[in-house]
Amino acid sequence: MLLIEADGKALFADHGIPVPEGVIVTDAVPELPGDGPWVVKAQVPVGGRGKAGGVVLCASRADVATAAAAMLGRRLKGHTIDACLVEQATVGQERYISIMVDPASYGLRVMYSAQGGVEIEQSGPVEGRLCAPHPGAVADALADLIADEPAAWRGQVAAIGKSLASLLIEKELALAEINPLFVGDTGCVAGDAKVVIDLNAVDRQPRIASLIAARPAIYVDACRKLAEGFDYVELDPDGEIGLVTTGAGLSMMLIDELTARGAKPLNFCDIRTGQMRGSPARLIRVLEWITSRSSLKAVLVNIFAGITDLGEFAGLLAAAIKASRSLHVPVVARLVGRNAAEARRILGEAQPGMLVTEDLEEALARVDAIVRGLP
Ligand code: GDP
Ligand code: MN
Repeated sequence: MLLIEADGKALFADHGIPVPEGVIVTDAVPELPGDGPWVVKAQVPVGGRGKAGGVVLCASRADVATAAAAMLGRRLKGHTIDACLVEQATVGQERYISIMVDPASYGLRVMYSAQGGVEIEQSGPVEGRLCAPHPGAVADALADLIADEPAAWRGQVAAIGKSLASLLIEKELALAEINPLFVGDTGCVAGDAKVVIDLNAVDRQPRIASLIAARPAIYVDACRKLAEGFDYVELDPDGEIGLVTTGAGLSMMLIDELTARGAKPLNFCDIRTGQMRGSPARLIRVLEWITSRSSLKAVLVNIFAGITDLGEFAGLLAAAIKASRSLHVPVVARLVGRNAAEARRILGEAQPGMLVTEDLEEALARVDAIVRGLP
């Protein structure tokens, strides 16, 4: 999951990577650092903000106020801008540096380009090296990549690369990228921060957990996962089919099947039936999230039970459907596995009109008919 730039830069600063002085603006513009010029940057977890109008250079405080006011509340690449970062603008040439996990080699990939900036993808392939996941190995790989850079600041880039590597390794990041890295005789500074965290490592990473918890409006899905202990990701705010599913692979298969039929799934989820402890509370919460979208037309429950007793699950599902005040669309359930017949009996009694089947095609066809308004 991508962090917003301000949070990525907070991690950079922790590890001694130079970043410009900046302030977060959510409303009125506070005291600004330095004398300007300044750069106003939309804080949304997405790349390519520069080309989308999310980065504006400003010469005066009045310009900063105007630019921030124009950005706040606007949508940028699918995200509402709730905050801007205002920094003293940096001068210098732009370089590109990144380190990412390379699962295929059990190592890291280090990349560097002298053509940093927003046109990095147009400037041809970026040179990279694979190396072992140790700061020393990254330093060696990087030394090779920056060998032609001027001696005046090459050492600073090497130091930044080593710090970036220890950040990535210590915090178990998937990617740490600086583009642009401003370089020059007066010093090297990270102009941007693209930090991709591994949500499955957050349990071991209190610093990252606290960055996420501090911004529930930006890291909606991540906060949910940390609070709830299971995955729920909204895929499409205009989705028509809410999914209550278990098993990440099975859920992804279902999303693919639906999408291939031209249907619009709303969410991914892995509800983990084994953790429900005899209570419908988790199911009720998921139904609340799903039904909060007005585009919703049907809910599809898809559970493949190995250990879970489907009879027990059906009882919880019936209770959740009854308790959910916001549920206003039909529910279809495909329940396969242990005690499926008992599950059909329980739901047949509690929800007489509801299709409960073991057959995926039958369930998908019913959902499709509901979405299309067919009888
Ligand atoms: P991104 O497009 O989301 O990656 O946002 P960036 O933070 O990388 O900003 C996009 C571009 O704006 C950069 O490549 C720079 O060309 C420019 N930019 C951003 N910050 C500064 C700055 O402090 N000074 C200058 N001169 N340009 C900046
Ligand atoms: Mn950038």
